[in-house]
Amino acid sequence: MNALKEKRLVYTVKDRCKMCYTCVRECPVKAIRIRNGQAEVISERCIGCGNCVKVCSQGAKTFLDSKQDVYALLQSGSPVVAMVAPSFPAEFTDISHYRVLVGMIRELGFHSVVEVAFGADMVSREYRKLLNSGKNKGYITSDCPALVNYVELYKHGLINSLAPIASPMVAMARVVRKKSRNGIKVVFIGPCVAKKTESEEVDAALTFRELREMFLENRIIPDEKLASDFDPPRAGKGAIFPVSRGLLQNVNRNDDIADGDFVVAEGKNNFRDAVAEFESGTLGTQHLELLCCEGCIMGPGMTNPGKRYARRTCISKYVKERLDTMDPKEWEQEVKKYGSLEYSQHFEPRERKKLTATDEKVNEVLRSMGKLKPSDHLNCGACGYDTCYEHAVAIAKGLAEIEMCLPYTIMKLHRFIEELNETNGRLAKTRKALKQSEKLASMGQLSAGIAHELNNPLGVITMYANILKEETPPDAPISRDLQLIVEQTERCRKIVGGLLNFARKNQVQLSQTNMVDFVQHSLGSIVCPDNVKVEMEANLDNPWVMIDNDQMMQVLTNLEKNAIEAMPGGGIMKIELSGDMEWVNLKIKDTGTGISPENMEKIFTPFFTTKALGKGTGLGLPLVYGIVKMHRGKIDVESNSDPAKGPTGTTFTITLPRRKDLMDQQNE
Ligand code: ADP
Ligand code: MG
Repeated sequence: MNALKEKRLVYTVKDRCKMCYTCVRECPVKAIRIRNGQAEVISERCIGCGNCVKVCSQGAKTFLDSKQDVYALLQSGSPVVAMVAPSFPAEFTDISHYRVLVGMIRELGFHSVVEVAFGADMVSREYRKLLNSGKNKGYITSDCPALVNYVELYKHGLINSLAPIASPMVAMARVVRKKSRNGIKVVFIGPCVAKKTESEEVDAALTFRELREMFLENRIIPDEKLASDFDPPRAGKGAIFPVSRGLLQNVNRNDDIADGDFVVAEGKNNFRDAVAEFESGTLGTQHLELLCCEGCIMGPGMTNPGKRYARRTCISKYVKERLDTMDPKEWEQEVKKYGSLEYSQHFEPRERKKLTATDEKVNEVLRSMGKLKPSDHLNCGACGYDTCYEHAVAIAKGLAEIEMCLPYTIMKLHRFIEELNETNGRLAKTRKALKQSEKLASMGQLSAGIAHELNNPLGVITMYANILKEETPPDAPISRDLQLIVEQTERCRKIVGGLLNFARKNQVQLSQTNMVDFVQHSLGSIVCPDNVKVEMEANLDNPWVMIDNDQMMQVLTNLEKNAIEAMPGGGIMKIELSGDMEWVNLKIKDTGTGISPENMEKIFTPFFTTKALGKGTGLGLPLVYGIVKMHRGKIDVESNSDPAKGPTGTTFTITLPRRKDLMDQQNE
């Protein structure tokens, strides 16, 4: 196994990735994994075609930088030969003549500068031999290293179909080593990223981009004075190699539909389709000329933004000039000189980590994306995969994320907005409830304060009343009055005690109570004017409920008094009882003045009253609220104060839990 080929060729620049998934879409082998929204190249799956580098508008993909390796070689003391790929005329259109470029490369410290195109000349001869060998077999050209990576990694069955011939770069390296003394180093300079790990026969491979950076770093600028020519051996027609069909033209074969024995395919989609057809056997014994880019002139190591046909023209112009000025005899001699070299190449299948996904897992992913039926599969391609199914498979394999699906993400966003609205609603309610309990707390503090202050004078009154009573003969008329004082003070102390309990907020003495009887009892303890009619309706199969009798009596009498006070001109007060297994409902309805919407918010606030001074205290409803809450019950008000909107009146609804758990305990 070639250790060089395991090197990381293409990287992601962290945090530059803006989640457009273009690289996922453009990667012909899906070697890009999305993790936490960031695209990551999976080295062991990458074929080094550099498509992702070309298409990323954010510069979030970059490739192995070989500049430091090349500087080290140049400083090592060994002679270093620069081998320039034949696509250079399409890159260096800003340099007046190729000889200037050659001179600039020499300025960097290279011992000699040669044309890879001569290697292409030699390789073409080998192809001609192979194709004329009469073997009834179709071959795949092996001059594109990304394509070779593709077959070695993904198409093990086609390894033996790769033409067993070295690439022009490797062929040229062999020529250079043959020509020069031992210890020579060779550096390839070209448009290709995959070349960097193609062969150990080359010491380093620079892209044109890196070459330009080295010129900048060394302040080498185009200058006619530098001009010098390539070192021999000079190339012939091999210079045409980097345009598509270049190899074909060199081998003198054609891809005519009628009698062509070649199929040409280039670019990330076409090369895969062609390989698939070749694999299926439909192409018979035809050969494939394949390039991952649309000709090497479109390689990812180019910086020139020139269009494809403009670049092609640059190459043709150069080749024409070259062929016009070359000495064919000299060239033939060179070819002869190096013709006996070994130009064969051996290819081996390479293992990559296989990622698998069970049907079950894929279906689960599809379900979670809401893609349940065929019509849910929009196949919009926004995720970077051609179909929803492919995307689901990639998710199941851990290569992709569900959020890459645009329709899914939009749907989720909608749901999120709905939830946010709901939460806002809930928050508003919570805030209201909080406000209410704050009110309750302030009232608790107040009552505790008052109760505490009253307790001492009440104690003194009770004590002296008792002393006086004991000193008075029982039959004296004053004795009865004193007895009344003692009793009533005792009552005051009880109320104060109750207030203190309320302040402590959690003191309820629950006992099983018959609610129907209890309501009737409460009605008996209030004063009701003649013009108010009292009605009661009980729809309760089971009247029993756990309540604190003293406190719940305060609730009922307060609500009943309020109802009566709201009907100065008379009316009907109706109490309704209903319930189910868990709850008991108590409604106190009146046909009184109603509560205005602006007062509605304030009625549970301590000391809020609309009644005349000395009449209302504004403590009734806060107390009612507190007691109901202590019973884990609910309280609701509905009211209409506007005669234009129908009959006025108010209904307070109290819902109390039966607390059957406690009832059972009490019955045991
Ligand atoms: P108070 O009765 O001492 O005024 P409450 O806390 O019992 O204090 O009531 C506060 C206010 O709520 C009342 O002043 C009145 O404006 C309003 N209110 C309460 N119950 C009713 C009702 N049944 N009909 C109309 N208004 C009511
Ligand atoms: Mg009141």
